[in-house]
Parts: sequence; C-alpha cells; structure tokens
Amino acid sequence: MPTTPPPALTTLLRPDHHRLWNEADAFAAELIAPRVKFMEEHPDKIERRIPQLMAQRGWFGVTIPSQYGGMAAGHVAKTVLIHRAAVVSGAAAAILQASLIPVGAVQNWGTPEQKTLWLPQAAAGTTLFSIAVTEPDAGGHIGGIETVAEQVGDWWVITGEKLHIGNSHLAGLHVVVARTAPPDVPASRALTAFLVEDGRKGLTKDKHRRGLGMHGFSAGRLRLDHVRVPAGNVLGEVGRGMAVAQSSSILYGRPNLGAVSLGIHEALVETTARWMAARPRYDGHLSDLPVPRFRLGAMQDRFQTARGAIYQAVNLLDEGASCDAELIGAKHTSHRLAADSAREAMELHAAAALGIDYPLQRYFRDVQYTYPPAGTGEVQLIHLAAEALHQRLISWSEWLAADASWAPPEPPPA
Ligand SMILES: Cc1cc2nc3c(=O)[nH]c(=O)nc-3n(C[C@H](O)[C@H](O)[C@H](O)COP(=O)(O)OP(=O)(O)OC[C@H]3O[C@@H](n4cnc5c(N)ncnc54)[C@H](O)[C@@H]3O)c2cc1C
Repeated sequence: MPTTPPPALTTLLRPDHHRLWNEADAFAAELIAPRVKFMEEHPDKIERRIPQLMAQRGWFGVTIPSQYGGMAAGHVAKTVLIHRAAVVSGAAAAILQASLIPVGAVQNWGTPEQKTLWLPQAAAGTTLFSIAVTEPDAGGHIGGIETVAEQVGDWWVITGEKLHIGNSHLAGLHVVVARTAPPDVPASRALTAFLVEDGRKGLTKDKHRRGLGMHGFSAGRLRLDHVRVPAGNVLGEVGRGMAVAQSSSILYGRPNLGAVSLGIHEALVETTARWMAARPRYDGHLSDLPVPRFRLGAMQDRFQTARGAIYQAVNLLDEGASCDAELIGAKHTSHRLAADSAREAMELHAAAALGIDYPLQRYFRDVQYTYPPAGTGEVQLIHLAAEALHQRLISWSEWLAADASWAPPEPPPA
C-alpha cells in the first residue's frame, strides 16, 4: 500500500519526489504485486508486462532531459522508483534499473544524433537498453575484455561473448564494450563502446535460464559473431570504452543496485516485524522477548543506515557535487547490510522462513543478486581504499557536473 516517505528523507525529497514515491507505491501494489506469484512459479519465463507498464509511466526516461521526452527528474527520483519497486519485487526493480544504466551512458556519451534517435525511444519505453561489459572469462575485470571490434571501411565488425547482461532479452539496443586496440595498449585506451541494435545479423542470445532468484529478470548471454555496425554507432570516442563503462557503473549502476538492495531490505524488516508481533510466545509474542527484539532493532538500524547512505549519495549527484566515493560506498553498504539482515530475518523466523509460499525466502535469494553487478564488494573496497589513500584518478561525478549540458534536475510544474 502507498506509504509516506520517512521524515529522515524530508530534506532530500522535493514535492515531486513525494508524488513519485506515492505513484511508485501504488503502481507496485496494484500492478507488480499481482505478478509476483506468477514470476516465482515460472522462473524460466522473462517478465515482459511489468516493463511495459513502467514504460507507459515514462519511468525509463526518469533521468532523460525533457527535450528528448524524458522526465528530467534526476537521480533521487530514479532512486525512489527503483527503491519502491524493490520493496514489492526485486526482479521488477532489477528490470527498471538495468536499462537506466545504459540510458545514462547514451545521455552522457552520445552524439547529438545518437541522443536524438535513441533517448526519445527510451523515454517512451518503446526501446529498452542493456549495457554489455562482463565476459565469461574476464568477469568484472574490464581490462580483460576479449570481445574484439575491427574497423572495416565505414563499419565495425564485433565478435565475442557477453555474460550476465541485465535485460539481455528485453533490450532493443545494447551498449557493447569491445577491444579495438592490440593487447599492449592500456585498457584505458584499448576499448570502445558501440551501440548495437538488437536484431543485427550475428547477434544471438542464449535461451533464458532460471537462476537462484530474481525470477522474471533476464541477465543472460549475448553472442556476437561478426556483428557489423556503422561507424556512427561508436558511443563516445574510439578508445574510450573503459570510461563509458566505468562512468556508467559508478554514476548509475552503483546507486541503482544500492536502491534494489534497499527495497529488499525494507521488505525484510517489515516482514520480520509483522511476523514477530504475531508469533505467540509465553504470555505475549516473540516481539516482546529481549533477544529477538534486539535483533530486529539491529535490522532496523542497518536498514536506516543503508537508506541514508543511498539517498545522501544520489542527492549529492543531483546537486552536482563530487560524490563517487559516496556512490560506491552506498552500493557496498546497502548490499552488505541487506544481506546481513536477510540472514538475521531467516534465523528469527526459524522454520517458518522456509515455506516456498512465504516471501522471506524470495528476499533471501534475491538479495544475493545485488552483490556482483556494478562491481563486487571487493571492487568497491579497492576504489574506496584509493579514496582513503588519495590515489583516486578521476571523479566521474565531477566530470558529469562539469559537462556543459549538465543541469540540476527540473522540478516538474506543480
Ligand atoms: C543480477 C546481475 C546483473 C548484471 N548485470 C550486468 C549488466 O547489465 N551488464 C554487465 O556487463 N554485467 C552485468 N552483470 C555482471 C557483473 O557485473 C559481474 O558479475 C561482476 O562484474 C563480477 O564478475 P564475475 O561475476 O564474473 O566475478 P569475478 O570477476 O570472476 O570475481 C570472482 C570473485 O573474485 C573477486 N575478485 C575479482 N577481481 C578481484 C580483484 N582484483 N581483487 C580482489 N578480488 C577480486 C570478486 O570480488 C569475486 O568475489 C550482472 C550480474 C548480475 C548478477
């Protein structure tokens, strides 16, 4: 049911954020919740109805400037939508966030022609995007990318494999990062990002397979066998693919995944509190006993910490402040604390946690999916150590704010 944003977020949320919060809660209750059972019972199927409905609301255009038909509502607004969807379904939130990462890449790195062509389609939700960086062997090591792109006249020919690609089976446009220089060239200059339309000859996808959780969300394998794209499909400059991938991951991917963890975390706390208050023990309920109560308090503490970290970080981004470390830390903290609470919730429920019709086991499974994407915990901590040692090479949030086209989000008319 629709909720009111907590007082802790008062200074960060504008009136239009409040409206989006209410809209997202109502949407989740009316349109996502009834689909959850089907998604859970059909883990081999990809959910297509929810993204269609989100698209009708313009949610895939939440950060897109109004000149391209977007909401131009910014990063806090984006976080509200993902967070509120994730309270009801991690998979629905994952579908939303996975396309919002490459949308950011096209916004920040696209030529005027590319933006004019693709951003209105994203804003209208007629074309979803994916970003394809990870590979079977390289994993999270971008410098190890083996997919190659060779220039042949006015075309680029791309060959390789991409794995765990969010919305692999829904996207009409894939942002593919490939190697365009010999192995001795440093990765920072050896990779290039390309816009690859779904349906290009040579682009195939493996059949969607069920995973541990996030049923309904596709994060599959793309195979590119001599896929030809015109030179105009280079996103950013040739040799700047690592920058496209890293900036998109830090500015969009990390807060997005943090928001998914946050929504699941909220559901964990609510479910556990409700259950403890109803579970009889001695003359009262489990919620009256000091030890379970203490553990629930620890869950609430972790949830509040994660919520503050995420909303503070994205608010800084909307303000044009330097906040890479905050975005990275928020992703790391939000996942880690939610995963801790998931274990605590399971233990507090004991045997009652294990029923397949009870949602707790879904939250426990789904929260595992917010660890790897946009950098595993180790990757986040490597970045944060560089921050502590004053060894940070670039601040993508400063870079974004310095862009001539950067403007704070536009509050919509009242
Ligand atoms: C739900 C989901 C959605 C995803 N969406 C996308 C997407 O849209 N696009 C995309 O391109 N990818 C996506 N990914 C892939 C994701 O980015 C990778 O899973 C992630 O980068 C890690 O790669 P890997 O899983 O192969 O692990 P590996 O990189 O093989 O890592 C294995 C382990 O080694 C550790 N490790 C690796 N390198 C180091 C190091 N240098 N120092 C210390 N420890 C290290 C890792 O932390 C991890 O514990 C998604 C993944 C999931 C699960």
